[in-house]
Amino acid sequence: MASRSAATLDDLRRHNRVRLLRRLHEGGAATRSDLVAFTGLNRSTVGAVVTELADVGLVTEVAGTAGQVGRPSLQVHPVAESAVVVALELRVERSIALLVGLGGTVLARREQRHRRSDYGPAAAVRTVRSLMRHVLSQGPKDAAWVGVGISVPGTVDHGDGRVRLAPNMGWTDVPLADLVRESILEEYGWSPPVVVGNDADLGAMAEHVRGGGALDENLIYLSGEVGIGGGIIIDGRPMTGAGGYGGEVGHMVINPAGTRCRCGAVGCWETEIGRDAVVRAAGLSDDAEVADVVAAVEAGRRRARTGIDRIGSWLGLGMANLANLFNPQVIVLGGHLRLVYPLVEEVVEQRMHEALPAVREQVRVELPAFSGDSTLLGSAEAAFAALLDDPIDVLGRSGRAIA
Ligand SMILES: [Zn+2]
Repeated sequence: MASRSAATLDDLRRHNRVRLLRRLHEGGAATRSDLVAFTGLNRSTVGAVVTELADVGLVTEVAGTAGQVGRPSLQVHPVAESAVVVALELRVERSIALLVGLGGTVLARREQRHRRSDYGPAAAVRTVRSLMRHVLSQGPKDAAWVGVGISVPGTVDHGDGRVRLAPNMGWTDVPLADLVRESILEEYGWSPPVVVGNDADLGAMAEHVRGGGALDENLIYLSGEVGIGGGIIIDGRPMTGAGGYGGEVGHMVINPAGTRCRCGAVGCWETEIGRDAVVRAAGLSDDAEVADVVAAVEAGRRRARTGIDRIGSWLGLGMANLANLFNPQVIVLGGHLRLVYPLVEEVVEQRMHEALPAVREQVRVELPAFSGDSTLLGSAEAAFAALLDDPIDVLGRSGRAIA
């Protein structure tokens, strides 16, 4: 009996610790009174948890600004330099790494371009290693390194972090989490947990947790790169499907009279609105960027205008289908779609009128709160999950970020 109630008390303490740390990590600094109101715990329990987290260095209390009456109240801050993760985004044409501290503070950034054709798994792991080495060297020397999060434009097995299929990278069944973990072990003699996720799922998570969709329980994030990915959050939870492969909206067949997709089907949505389609529709060469298309449209080039309107029409049609299927409060347009949308807002709106009226009235269209970094910040959130679930234990087991 005694050991059972002790276990329950431990569970309760851990639960309180997790709620409070997560609130500070996601919502930023707060007074003890804010934390009491947020958690519904009493003042002394909040005080005890804050002390416990401060003792291990994860939070600190500093004087905030004075209220209308009385002394300035103490504010509890997450300490960005206490625990860090490396967040990576692997794309078809470039890879980016961030070093992110507790509370979501970006401490370092590094980017590397590469050729599409020679970016196999071995090259990707070498890139990851060099990006990681660079951002870690820029970070605080004594921070605990608590995780690595990697996004890929493909379907991922959440159990073991294996990339099942990333058609635009030419990858099939790549055990990416294992490969990166082995590479870290080789270099540092120790490895934090490595989590791999789909780029759009991670973008959706960042927008839902911290971004414009923070209050929306039903959100769709579209990532526009060479392919088109979809991250779908329903009732506050990511929609994964039976094997974690749900939300592959880029392969929704939308134009049976269209072109063949890398997945083998004809007329997938990404063949109509993916990066290559945008550049070609505007009459530019394949090595042009979407930014060049924007410039051509803004310069009044007619071919570019007609082309981008056609893209807008396909974009709006697909969004109307998604709105009918999922009844979201918001569709967030990430990747190159965030550059395309301002040029075609009216066309998209017209097309979305094909959605059912009740659905259409409820949905907003927004650009990402984090500009081009939603996916990276989502990778960071995935990498922080272990620490947030069990801060004291994970901190105890973590190695230091290496200079
Ligand atoms: Zn396809």
